[in-house]
Amino acid sequence: MRTPLYLTVKELPKTMIKNGILEALKRRVSDRIWKKWFSTFEVIHVTEDEIVFSVRNLFIKDWLEEKYKKQINSAIKEVFGRVIPFKIIYKETVDMEVGEDEHNIDYLPSEETNLNPDFRFSTFVVGDGNETAYKFAKKSATEPGRFSPIFIYGGVGVGKTHLIQAIGNYIYAKKPQLKVIYTTSEGFMNEMIKALRENRMEKFREKFRNVDVFIMDDVQFLMGKNGVQFELFNTFNELMDKKKQLVFCSDRDPAVLQDFQDRLISRFRMGIVIEMRLPNLETRKKIARRIADREGGGLDEEVLDFLAENIDGSLRELRGAIIKLIAYQEIENRKVSIVEAMNLVSGFLKKKVNVDPSEKLISVLSGIFDLSPSMIRSKSRKANIVMAREIGIFFARKYLKMSVRSVGKIFNRSPSVISHTSKRAEEKIRNSPVMRSYLNKLLAHFNPAVGELN
Ligand code: ADP
Ligand code: MG
Repeated sequence: MRTPLYLTVKELPKTMIKNGILEALKRRVSDRIWKKWFSTFEVIHVTEDEIVFSVRNLFIKDWLEEKYKKQINSAIKEVFGRVIPFKIIYKETVDMEVGEDEHNIDYLPSEETNLNPDFRFSTFVVGDGNETAYKFAKKSATEPGRFSPIFIYGGVGVGKTHLIQAIGNYIYAKKPQLKVIYTTSEGFMNEMIKALRENRMEKFREKFRNVDVFIMDDVQFLMGKNGVQFELFNTFNELMDKKKQLVFCSDRDPAVLQDFQDRLISRFRMGIVIEMRLPNLETRKKIARRIADREGGGLDEEVLDFLAENIDGSLRELRGAIIKLIAYQEIENRKVSIVEAMNLVSGFLKKKVNVDPSEKLISVLSGIFDLSPSMIRSKSRKANIVMAREIGIFFARKYLKMSVRSVGKIFNRSPSVISHTSKRAEEKIRNSPVMRSYLNKLLAHFNPAVGELN
């Protein structure tokens, strides 16, 4: 009997076959090609007379069938000792949370484009403040070149980088034949300096002027940098002549970029200029959930709401606080309570400045508990009065960052009683949903940006 040189399909464990084929294939193409075209390539099914592969993009399916048939056949031959016919099917990925079409597309590795694959349309929450920018970003992603240039501006942490990278990721995934490049203006400058030093300007120009989609982040960094502005101006013109898609963002309206060549400013303004602003509370809450999911999740809704309510300066800070709490939960191996969260992220909540909040605190408390100020300051031991006092004292210590002495003055108690009451209150808040809900009512009046009640 003939001893087979190769094992037959039936004799090999399935995973070994699958990995074997992939490994053999990987050796037949360059790393770059592997990452670009085979990142979603899977072995679905193997029998003696047919092998089925899948990819998650129709364009890639066609492309592989057309250009890589030889390599695939040769890989199969290496593993099985003979050619087995194969076919590639298109397998849609289904995003868990959203059904819109862009959410089903596939995101490829990003080394070539410099894009962060987390920054997609599907992970971007649309709400007030970013809606118009989103619409144009989406348009330029689905019809690259139609609205060009697009210039998005807005303050720190409003989502500019996320949105402009989403354009790049979308195009890169949907139309892999298009060349997408994302760079910060600083990155552009550094590369240019290096190219100048090494006498490689031609290569530099080839890299940036030979693209279909050119995305530049934080243009304001080039203020006063004349040489780089000049290079950008030429890059801009060449790409516009070729009807390519250009996308820019900056922390200010292009009209007010200082130390910027007028002709470059007028280029920026010749297309669509859109402002992005910080979203409102409802949207921030949704964003907090989306960021938390992206970063590993596990935070309670009430904690996320608390963060969205109290960190209203920049979404970057919101993200920082979320990451900190997720890390804390992982290390401690348990959920953080809202009270702990408040302490842990206090660095993100700006401290109060020079305000005497005593009257304000008492009046807000009296509103929430329906008690007169004098009742709150009294010695009464009635349950609702005690609760109002405890929450007020805890709040004054933890949020208003007041000393025990000052709190004592407000509540008509000695510093040692304040210290003791605050600790006891913290314990109670941790264990009592009723106390927590009252604390939340109080927090609704709190403006962490200035560290005071409003
Ligand atoms: P900017 O570039 O304007 O300073 P970023 O794009 O870096 O802001 O946004 C800061 C953080 O907030 C990022 O982690 C980003 O993913 C997140 N973020 C901003 N806007 C949204 C949004 N609408 N939906 C989801 N995440 C967002
Ligand atoms: Mg940015």
